[in-house]
Amino acid sequence: MSKVTEIFGSKVFNDETMKERLPKDAYKALRNTVEEGRPLDRELANVIAHAMKEWAIELGATHFTHWFQPMTGVTAEKHDSFIQPEEGGKVIMTFSGKELIKGEPDASSFPSGGLRATFEARGYTAWDPTSYVFIKDDTLCIPTAFCSYSGEALDKKTPLLRSMEALDKSAVRVLKLFGHDEVKRVITTVGPEQEYFLIDSEMYNKRPDLIYTGRTLFGAKPPKGQELEDHYFGTIKPRVSAFMKELDEELWKLGVLAKTKHNEVAPAQHELAPVFSTTNIATDHNQLTMEMMKVVAGRHGMTCLLHEKPFAGVNGSGKHNNWSISTDTGVNLLEPGATPSQNAQFLLFLTAVIKAVDEYQELLRVSVASAGNDHRLGANEAPPAIISMFIGDELEAIVESIIDGKDYADVKKKKMSIGAAVIPSISQDTTDRNRTSPFAFTGNKFEFRSLGSSASISGPNVILNTIVAEELDKFAEELEKAKSFDKALDKLIKRELTAHKRIIFNGNGYSEEWVKEAKKRGLKNLKSTVDALPAFVDKKSIDVFTKHGVFTEQEILSRYDIQLENYYKVIDIEALTFDSMVKRDIMAAASDYQYTLAETLNAKAATGLKVDSSVEKKHLEKAAKLTTEMDKRLEKLEKDIEGAKKLSDTYELAKFHHDVIFADMNELREVVDELETVVPSDIWPYPTYGEILYSVK
Ligand code: ADP
Ligand code: MG
Repeated sequence: MSKVTEIFGSKVFNDETMKERLPKDAYKALRNTVEEGRPLDRELANVIAHAMKEWAIELGATHFTHWFQPMTGVTAEKHDSFIQPEEGGKVIMTFSGKELIKGEPDASSFPSGGLRATFEARGYTAWDPTSYVFIKDDTLCIPTAFCSYSGEALDKKTPLLRSMEALDKSAVRVLKLFGHDEVKRVITTVGPEQEYFLIDSEMYNKRPDLIYTGRTLFGAKPPKGQELEDHYFGTIKPRVSAFMKELDEELWKLGVLAKTKHNEVAPAQHELAPVFSTTNIATDHNQLTMEMMKVVAGRHGMTCLLHEKPFAGVNGSGKHNNWSISTDTGVNLLEPGATPSQNAQFLLFLTAVIKAVDEYQELLRVSVASAGNDHRLGANEAPPAIISMFIGDELEAIVESIIDGKDYADVKKKKMSIGAAVIPSISQDTTDRNRTSPFAFTGNKFEFRSLGSSASISGPNVILNTIVAEELDKFAEELEKAKSFDKALDKLIKRELTAHKRIIFNGNGYSEEWVKEAKKRGLKNLKSTVDALPAFVDKKSIDVFTKHGVFTEQEILSRYDIQLENYYKVIDIEALTFDSMVKRDIMAAASDYQYTLAETLNAKAATGLKVDSSVEKKHLEKAAKLTTEMDKRLEKLEKDIEGAKKLSDTYELAKFHHDVIFADMNELREVVDELETVVPSDIWPYPTYGEILYSVK
């Protein structure tokens, strides 16, 4: 491998490359666009596009694409080559400013939730200059936002950029109150830890359920799962290690700050974490990371599974969204400062996050809701569906003392006043780590742990940014009016911490007691996607998003529809896949097995010898019984799949798929799994969990 420092960002048109390749005025104009959102004039756009094209061609690129993130959750691209015909049958390579700035993909086949009727199929993509252009697979990729012709967002990037702006405004407003006029911009930062499974492609190709749905729909528990806890942080197998090395290299070339890699809890499960970056870039990079994981795995004869729950009985995969707020002057606003006045500011931001999480717990739950993630949340392996916060013992003691008006620890024997200089310095809490909390303070950032492994991190961050912006805004409004800032600050923090203390929970989030306790505290326990989604279209939700210009009401309604539709379609595909696997192959295997047993019984009888046949009889009876039961449950599933066709309302459809079809599949699975344990392996038509989970040697 060439030197990391040399390959890093080698396929990115980053700041350094821009400085090198652009005329000074073009470079300056572009920086202005990035930093202050100023529009770029056409002439300069042409100059920039030309420089990008020259750079890309030198690196072997032949095409360009507007790379965007439609509501499917995966990225989309349509490649155009740079060629333009010339006289004499020749071509030249061209790329204009217009092509850089705006694209018009036929948008009719992307989900829009009714926002863009198919007869006006036009949508457009617009260059997002805050995320660098890069080269992937000989194509110059231009990160873009995707909108309808009337300007409604049809993607996951646009609302994210809007939410970052909302938080920027509110946070700068609050910082002014603390005298920080030097701060011009506040950004949110994210470091998403990504979990995934790696299995041998030979196994993958033999499981239609993995191919069509990303997860196994049945499979008996193997003798060894994760009981011994010997995989977590274990030695990485050579084949996996070779994959990880190549993945790092590919990501580094794309400027992705891939940093940490290790084995996870379940067999065949691994994790990759990057160094954090601006939320917008972190989101783009997480999409690229997931894509590269699949591509690189393929080169090594393996398949990367990003589904939240590929296998029952062992842990599923999630994504930890480490989130913080920073100023353009380089200050992390969630860093408890060393001096009391810094602490007052920190406490105000902390209070805003606590209040936001409590006030909008349903929205945070909505932001991580999907058919795949339903398998994890609340399944004692991932954070519960109940949203709560862990802030660590030290911070909790401080919060308590503020609420009680008592001294904190051994501080001076005065009543604690936040504005005045008596707050103790708060050390970074690294000792206690609560792994069961959905939303944990980890020293200088929050870790939102409920995200599913396959989802874009955009949704949760849109919501996080917006709800924190809302609380900061309200705080600013109150404090701006105050006669004495210190007194008003004291009062506000005490009042809000008292009001929202219920969201703080430092105990075991997996326990039954917590479910009861949370109920007592009035916290929501929205168990499934179908339970959670309606909160998205509540008045409270519409109010907060429209107030901050993150979503219009139309955009919210359309996204609600898309999510419901996605939910029931996923379950429907699972049901159809399961139905066909059972009907075509598993039934046949069950019959073959019974036939073998019956033949053995006949053959034994034909010998005329008085040999014992009770074992064959017992097995045959059991197999016959299981097969009859399987058929009964299969028929029920098929009947319900038909029944769903009578429904038309999207919510009804989603609810029916959750309550009935999903339940049918679980019932059917029970018998199939039992049958798998009795049918001989040479007759069973599909690889077992043991074979799949231990397929990579
Ligand atoms: P863990 O123990 O959970 O692995 P780490 O300290 O390794 O915690 O960090 C996990 C992730 O948090 C990394 O991606 C890291 O870059 C990110 N992170 C660290 N500081 C910040 C920050 N200020 N904002 C956002 N993410 C951060
Ligand atoms: Mg973590």
